[in-house]
Amino acid sequence: MIPALDNAPASPIPAGHSLKWTNGFTRLGPDFYTELEARPLASPYWVGRNRALARELGLQEHWLESAEALAALSGNQLLPGSKPLASVYSGHQFGVWAGQLGDGRALLLGEIETPLGPQEIQLKGSGSTPYSRMGDGRAVLRSSIREFLCSEAMHGLGIPTTRALCVTGSDAPVRREEIETAAVVTRTAPSFIRFGHFEHFSYSNQHVQLKALADYVIDRFYPACRDARQPYAALLEAVSERTARMVAAWQAVGFCHGVMNTDNMSILGLTIDYGPFQFLDAFDPGHICNHSDHQGRYAYNKQPNMANWNQFCIGQALLPLIEEQDQALAALESYKTVFPKALHARMGSKLGLPDEQPEDQELIDNTFRLLASNKVDYTIFWRRLCSFTAQSGHEAVRELFFDGESFNAWALQYSERIATVDIGLQANLMLKNNPRFVFRNHLGEESIRAAKLKDFSKVDTLLQLLQSPFEEHPGHDSFAAFPPAWAASIEISCSS
Ligand code: AMP
Ligand code: MG
Repeated sequence: MIPALDNAPASPIPAGHSLKWTNGFTRLGPDFYTELEARPLASPYWVGRNRALARELGLQEHWLESAEALAALSGNQLLPGSKPLASVYSGHQFGVWAGQLGDGRALLLGEIETPLGPQEIQLKGSGSTPYSRMGDGRAVLRSSIREFLCSEAMHGLGIPTTRALCVTGSDAPVRREEIETAAVVTRTAPSFIRFGHFEHFSYSNQHVQLKALADYVIDRFYPACRDARQPYAALLEAVSERTARMVAAWQAVGFCHGVMNTDNMSILGLTIDYGPFQFLDAFDPGHICNHSDHQGRYAYNKQPNMANWNQFCIGQALLPLIEEQDQALAALESYKTVFPKALHARMGSKLGLPDEQPEDQELIDNTFRLLASNKVDYTIFWRRLCSFTAQSGHEAVRELFFDGESFNAWALQYSERIATVDIGLQANLMLKNNPRFVFRNHLGEESIRAAKLKDFSKVDTLLQLLQSPFEEHPGHDSFAAFPPAWAASIEISCSS
């Protein structure tokens, strides 16, 4: 099932020379960024390579095997046509205006033409920039592996996200709580523009630049807004809707982002900046995955409201262009309907209900309540539920619950509802919406431990599994099993 590493020879023509660079972001002009080159990374080596994404991007088959790619994607060699830059943005962090931030350790290499459409390529961890503040501009191996695998896991789950092409590592030391080693992740997305880019130009009264940015985003990514009576209000509404759909997908799959600051919110509604994220093990609605988040601002069950709070920040930032406050407020209204609708649809599919009914809300609420009171493993519950039919026994599901009576009452309600659904249709829907594999913290830890000893095979295996998480992948049961007891003591903070 898992293809072996392909050690094919490097292509005779360096693929770097055939990339078609378009560099759209640079057209915004120098107020938006500083051009600079990456700081070299000492003696880099491959940690993880995403050959599937390389193919989707139309890169030459063996480019990711080449010395040119290793050097270019570690920041040691400039690809011809690339114009690297660090962009400036600001943002609200943990509810407080943080002022100017910016790409403190990321570098946009530029934008290339691909079969997926234009894609920006960004290095993360490639050295300090004018926006690094007190930081060293580096990323450590641990957090780079986490970002690499989780962004591909999210993509495999059908959740909008930035993607990751590869991770390169180095033995160069990096100081965090302890000494770790450096790594660089290569990320791709149609755009890395964040809410914080808009806040930056709005709060600093650079309204000409604010308008240029909004026009760029509309023209490139939201062209339908151009025809609206108020294009900037339409943009706000469209962004709200995409964000609502993204967060509904997070909630349905049990994903906690951990740091939903406005500088970590993509204008395209993509999951971005993977830090102290976590997929829920036992279902706990108030779960806080980020050990630096002492107030629980970004707890699992707060994410929908926090995303909405962030919408108000970008609404505020766009006000100089919208002029009428009422129009901005009206544009923000749609979040309140789009989010619950999107979550309802996702949960209905997880329950195997192809025909959405408003009455199903009660069943959905009851399911969440039951999972919380029994602290049931979220992913395993849903996957086992795929073989629950109105006729079959429910032993595999029932044994997950210590409170058998509550389970029986719920199972009765569920059986009655699914009795109206064709079994084949139900099973098919459920198997496509309840993953067998999610990127649990302990799986990350195991792959990181091995990678620190230069064994990257676990990173590769996880990548393959997480890219097709709804498939069975026989022989890989341990990756779909309950977390070990030590998983509960893993602490992930903002330090990365
Ligand atoms: P994050 O919490 O990772 O999204 O980062 C928030 C801000 O801090 C962004 O402007 C980052 O570029 C910056 N930052 C985080 N870590 C570093 C680092 N090691 N060096 C420089 N800047 C950093
Ligand atoms: Mg960030």
